[in-house]
Amino acid sequence: MSADGYEIASADGRADWDAEADVVIVGCGVAGLCAAIEARSAGADVLVLERASGGGGITLSAAGHVYLGGGTRVQKAVGVEDTVEDMEAYLLAVTPDPDPEKIRLYCDQSTAHFDWLVAQGVPFNDSMYPGKHVLQPTDECLIWSGNEEVWPYRDRAKPAPRGHKVAQVGEQGGAKLIACLTKRAEELGVRIVCDAAVQALIRDGEGRIAGVRYRSFDEMRHVRAGRGVVLATGHFTGNAEMLARHCPLLADERVYKQTTPHDDGAGIQLGLLAGGVALHMDGALVTCPYYPPESLIKGVLVNRNGERYVAEDSYHSRASILTAAQPGGVAYLVVDDAIFGRPEFGGYDVIDAWEDFVAMERDLGLPGGALQETMRRYNANAAKGEDPDFHKGAKWLRALETPPFAALDASLGKNPFVGFTLGGLRVSIDGEVLGEDGGSISGLYAAGACASNIAQDGTGYSSGTCIGESSFFGRRAGRHAAGRFSAA
Ligand SMILES: Cc1cc2nc3c(=O)[nH]c(=O)nc-3n(C[C@H](O)[C@H](O)[C@H](O)COP(=O)(O)OP(=O)(O)OC[C@H]3O[C@@H](n4cnc5c(N)ncnc54)[C@H](O)[C@@H]3O)c2cc1C
Repeated sequence: MSADGYEIASADGRADWDAEADVVIVGCGVAGLCAAIEARSAGADVLVLERASGGGGITLSAAGHVYLGGGTRVQKAVGVEDTVEDMEAYLLAVTPDPDPEKIRLYCDQSTAHFDWLVAQGVPFNDSMYPGKHVLQPTDECLIWSGNEEVWPYRDRAKPAPRGHKVAQVGEQGGAKLIACLTKRAEELGVRIVCDAAVQALIRDGEGRIAGVRYRSFDEMRHVRAGRGVVLATGHFTGNAEMLARHCPLLADERVYKQTTPHDDGAGIQLGLLAGGVALHMDGALVTCPYYPPESLIKGVLVNRNGERYVAEDSYHSRASILTAAQPGGVAYLVVDDAIFGRPEFGGYDVIDAWEDFVAMERDLGLPGGALQETMRRYNANAAKGEDPDFHKGAKWLRALETPPFAALDASLGKNPFVGFTLGGLRVSIDGEVLGEDGGSISGLYAAGACASNIAQDGTGYSSGTCIGESSFFGRRAGRHAAGRFSAA
């Protein structure tokens, strides 16, 4: 039994099942719904068990970006050129320990996956948000949502914007996605039962996962799964003990955890008890964006030694995580009057403004001469359109020469750094939960945030990857589970 009470129970000749389905799916977020739709479409009788009183999970809070490319309908409509090969090369380059087979398949079938989402009723507009933003405030679809234009990735693959937001003004694209997928699942005859917290996997005499036990208020119920159980229980962001053990970046009390009351890592705990292994458990998306306004990207980030540490045009999570890694988590965003603005997502208080970098350096208590030298070198190179130190893109390079010069406090602990986990169970390309030896655990699948597929860490993360892989590999898990017939 795990610390949170999850366990593997024995079927032990059980005849009194309370319910039965071919495929039982645990969790009703984007991964669970996509698995359910595909399993049902493959002819299986599907039961989704959801612990909350309504489905949607953390997906309801998502902006609704889906990372897709290789020439989707939207990319073509707005004149963006992209290829499967460039998308694949990019994902291989930004992922610390890439699974080439999964990435190849994901890219190869990306346009087809876009079309599938559309066929389920998920709307995307044929439009693109032109600026550099974290979340387009409009219902425009396409946005740059990663490090595609950032060095060294821009040299590894031709950059293309691939963040496709569900057609929705501002936030709540994730809620719209859930509404569309739920409607589709219900039309197909998927049964969704809420207030059903799965607490145990049930293993039969042959070692196969044959069902689950769940609690609904005061009652315990047992459900037989004729073909398979798909774990789709989401992140472990809400489990302080698991964070402390696996993910120090997110366990840091200065980082706000983006979680629902149900993100305790149930699926990961159950999968581990069944003999699975977990991967990339230290990975987290942690961010505190300083843009928009995008003029601030032309600023310079320095640590308490007065040294730069990142190309400031990096995607916001990459820059934020590298900020958090600086000594003491202390950092400043240095700007001049020409580019000054207030970060729209809050934080980054203006410490003060000065007429020169000598006074700024002194008042910030930075080592003598350090900031002056950093700015002298940065400005001299920027004036030539170069950044030999961090290779910031030419369009963001501009010498900071217009006083007054301000320092915005970029430090961890002074700003709203937020995050969620990225690690999960090791799974096959079809979502089968894999053990240490690489063999699959019969009857058990995992998808979405409780599985590890593409996203592994926040410095290489591109927004839309979580929902992209949750939906794509969720579909595959559902389809594969539907094809497994019980030996009984
Ligand atoms: C603020 C925010 C914005 C985001 N925006 C984006 C974005 O735009 N694009 C993107 O790609 N990613 C985004 N993400 C990440 C993304 O939303 C998630 O990774 C993804 O939605 C996870 O989907 P899921 O189906 O795996 O989990 P969830 O949507 O969390 O679904 C899991 C479900 O399982 C249920 N559950 C848990 N335990 C049990 C149990 N024991 N029994 C029964 N049910 C259980 C939960 O209640 C939940 O409903 C964002 C995350 C946050 C926090």
